[in-house]
Amino acid sequence: MPPGLMPDRSVDSVCPFCGVGCLLTWHVKDEQIVGVTGRDGPANGGRLCVKGRFGFDYIHHPQRLTKPLVRREGVAKDPSIPWRQDQWAEVFREASWDEALALASGGLKALRDQHGPKSLAGFGSAKGSNEEAYLFQKLVRVGFGSNNVDHCTRLCHASSVAALLEGVGSGAVSNPVRDVELAELFIVIGSNPTANHPVAATWMKNAARRGAKIVLADPRRTELARDAWQVLNFRPDTDVALVNAMLYVVVEEDLIDHAFVAQRAHNLQAVIDGVQGFSPEAMAPICGIPAQTIREVTRAYAKSKGSMILWGMGVSQHVHGTDNVRSLIALATLTGQIGRPGTGLHPLRGQNNVQGASDAGLIPMMFPNYQRVNNTEAHAWFERFWGTPLDATPGYTVVEILHKAKAPDSDPHKIRGMYVMGENPAMSDPDLNHAREGLASLTHLVVQDLFLTETAWLADVVLPASAWPEKWGTATNTDRMVQMGRPAVAPPGDARRDLWILQQLARGMGLDWRYEGPEDGVAAVYEEMRQAMHGVIAGVSWERLLAADSVTYPCLSEDDPGQPIVFTDGVPTADGKVHLVPTSLVPGNEPPDADYPFVLITGRQLEHWHTGSMTRRSRVLDAVEPLATVSLCGADLDRLGLQPGDALTVSSRRGSVTLHARRDDGTPEGTVFMPFAYAEAAANLLTNPALDPFGKIPEFKYCAVRVSAGGEV
Ligand code: SF4
Repeated sequence: MPPGLMPDRSVDSVCPFCGVGCLLTWHVKDEQIVGVTGRDGPANGGRLCVKGRFGFDYIHHPQRLTKPLVRREGVAKDPSIPWRQDQWAEVFREASWDEALALASGGLKALRDQHGPKSLAGFGSAKGSNEEAYLFQKLVRVGFGSNNVDHCTRLCHASSVAALLEGVGSGAVSNPVRDVELAELFIVIGSNPTANHPVAATWMKNAARRGAKIVLADPRRTELARDAWQVLNFRPDTDVALVNAMLYVVVEEDLIDHAFVAQRAHNLQAVIDGVQGFSPEAMAPICGIPAQTIREVTRAYAKSKGSMILWGMGVSQHVHGTDNVRSLIALATLTGQIGRPGTGLHPLRGQNNVQGASDAGLIPMMFPNYQRVNNTEAHAWFERFWGTPLDATPGYTVVEILHKAKAPDSDPHKIRGMYVMGENPAMSDPDLNHAREGLASLTHLVVQDLFLTETAWLADVVLPASAWPEKWGTATNTDRMVQMGRPAVAPPGDARRDLWILQQLARGMGLDWRYEGPEDGVAAVYEEMRQAMHGVIAGVSWERLLAADSVTYPCLSEDDPGQPIVFTDGVPTADGKVHLVPTSLVPGNEPPDADYPFVLITGRQLEHWHTGSMTRRSRVLDAVEPLATVSLCGADLDRLGLQPGDALTVSSRRGSVTLHARRDDGTPEGTVFMPFAYAEAAANLLTNPALDPFGKIPEFKYCAVRVSAGGEV
């Protein structure tokens, strides 16, 4: 490399975008990240996708917040968010950290003291570190005094976790993604890994090339179909019909691993009884997959030496998301496809640290390490550990919190103040008009972020935070690998590291928190969290992580290498056995009808991440995908008289957006697909807030919309 282009330094870290958790190296010149290379990490083997390779210039973007902001007196919180970034000074004024922190913590404290602990809530972030998630939930539980704390896991895999905890006693994966290299067959259901877990998809494609059979099951025909042995484009909302038909075949053709089930599971008879009536012949007209194909796939799955199931949010984001996963657990258990290399259950985690943030207790019903807040023993342990009385009632979840923000004054559980760190509910929640009204109606909203997000426009105080490459911290990937992140550059201007901000707010609320020492005090927070999670990461000291960069839990002692494959001789339920749960057909909450005849599916695309606040400020990524689009098949475009690129309007009972048509013949007739990263055409203005009753996850993958040509884009 010519001397003028040589980086000043290179820093090893981990990619902060998706749950694959690729290890990488940032190359820094003149305090800018100018290049990224992949490292030989256990999840990526040197590979990176386009986001990991080109997606970091957002940290140097001119719209980065570099000073605390305070809402100007008299400027109303308009939930339609009419402002442009260059109008920020009409809404906010700059403030010193002292003033901003005093206002932020003072407002929260006043509400707590006047209306009680349950008048406050906090949304932490799966984009932050484990240490930030741990300290955030501790602040809400100890400082606010309630369990009203949640994060985006509620919007992605909450139903998977509910079913997994109930069925196998652990909400994490049983085998790493790269076990597809050892599987004879694997089912990828409700997931588009090429877009959402790109490096994981490369391992899947490699596996197919060496002879593994991929069964791709999804309403949309996505890119992995090119490598699949069978593509099951089942009708939207018919997951249980398809999987229970497979279970029916397992029972009817006696593909049950009787020795495994006798030793390792409860409730077999309930599942056998439950799948009566789900024959492939009866389900074929419902799910749209020929009976013979269902039988062939089931036999291959059950009889192979090693079969895995990997699933995404196409499975979890339904009002029957928990049932979908219960059926998958039953399928793997009845056929004995658990507990060996190349088998098992893998919910593909979305954000880089959604596994870790959930493990760290950033959820309203669990302390760290999934200890239930209403379990007497766990509750007493955490009261001793944190040295303070704690609420023993599960808190509200993401969607419930914003409902409660709009509750009448007379409601004793009305939410009046919130602290939002690194989440953007004004883009990510369902039925955004309702969610934004909830945020706007708060008496006091504190937002900590990198940019003036749609949520930050509704804040009273905005605190400028640090990006992942600007701080120390660990993150836990989809494979249960705890991995070390290191700072490459300093936060810009007066932006501060998030753990520093959290501690200042805690002090403002009366807590004398001082986590100091190596790595900006992050090591001290990690070591406290390690005690709270002694059951899984006792053997993963900070020093070990500094040396190894990646350790897989459970890891119970310093000489334990970690356990990539679990459930080898039992599952972590009370008696070590899988608890099987039969399921029935539960219809989607809002089926299409004459007024709204299309089904809307929302999701992500390769280049843009979540609500777009980072990737839409990344030059390369936004150049590749600059416009909000909605995907329809050619037949639907023809029927509407549209060409690709034309403007069209998509409306639901909750809202309406105008965007560009994109032809995608993998999207089935009568269905449209929209990414939710585009503020100018926010997909979640349309989505339905109906919740799965167990995981409390909204139905992002199924609601009724109308599509019409025209509109202003
Ligand atoms: Fe980052 Fe995920 Fe891409 Fe890996 S696959 S580089 S973790 S976005």
